[in-house]
Amino acid sequence: MAWYEVKNSGAVAADDRYKHLKIGGLAIQGAVAEHLQSLESCGAGALAVRKPSALAEVDGLIIPGGESTTISRLGRLYGFMEGIYHLVEAGKPLFGTCAGLVMMAREVEGQQPVLALLSITARRNAFGRQRESFEADLDIPVLGGEPFCGGFIRAPVVTSVFGEAQVLARINGIVVAARERNCLATSFHPELTDDLRLHRYFLEMALLGSAPKAARQP
Ligand code: GLN
Repeated sequence: MAWYEVKNSGAVAADDRYKHLKIGGLAIQGAVAEHLQSLESCGAGALAVRKPSALAEVDGLIIPGGESTTISRLGRLYGFMEGIYHLVEAGKPLFGTCAGLVMMAREVEGQQPVLALLSITARRNAFGRQRESFEADLDIPVLGGEPFCGGFIRAPVVTSVFGEAQVLARINGIVVAARERNCLATSFHPELTDDLRLHRYFLEMALLGSAPKAARQP
């Protein structure tokens, strides 16, 4: 079995401070179940967001990996986009992983951006095809000293970072994680390991739900 088919189930103590939070996982297409499991392992409530109306119930949202063209097409068709903007403009955090990063980027090489919320340029499928998937130990200073094992599955990379966006991680000098205000995105899949530090980092953002907010472009 390949590493990306494995969801390790190491026990990690849930944090009581997160128990009042309910975080949504956008369940249009893609790998949402593992994110919900990671959030629950952290001690937060998790909800698969299958209808736009559910966006009003959550304290933050994760856009999972999958196929960004499919997620954006169906997201528009079913009317999720406005609710995602409302959520972000209300100061709730948005976390995009892999296809989710592509969805959030203000610029996507060779195509129109989708949500255009995070001041980065994304290059899709930058490491090649599915069989070129790999995992790598990443140095993510905001998570502390221990390396974070990220899984890259037909992953995008960040080719430029502008505005107020901050680089959180690089691999061989290439940006693979960034944050701007309440928008967080990674090229890789943090939900496929036991390591809950990125989900906890996101839950800390949710606790600070009233921090300065990202806004859609005029
Ligand atoms: N290549 C996909 C895209 O651009 C992302 C792959 C993934 O999310 N694992 O949408």
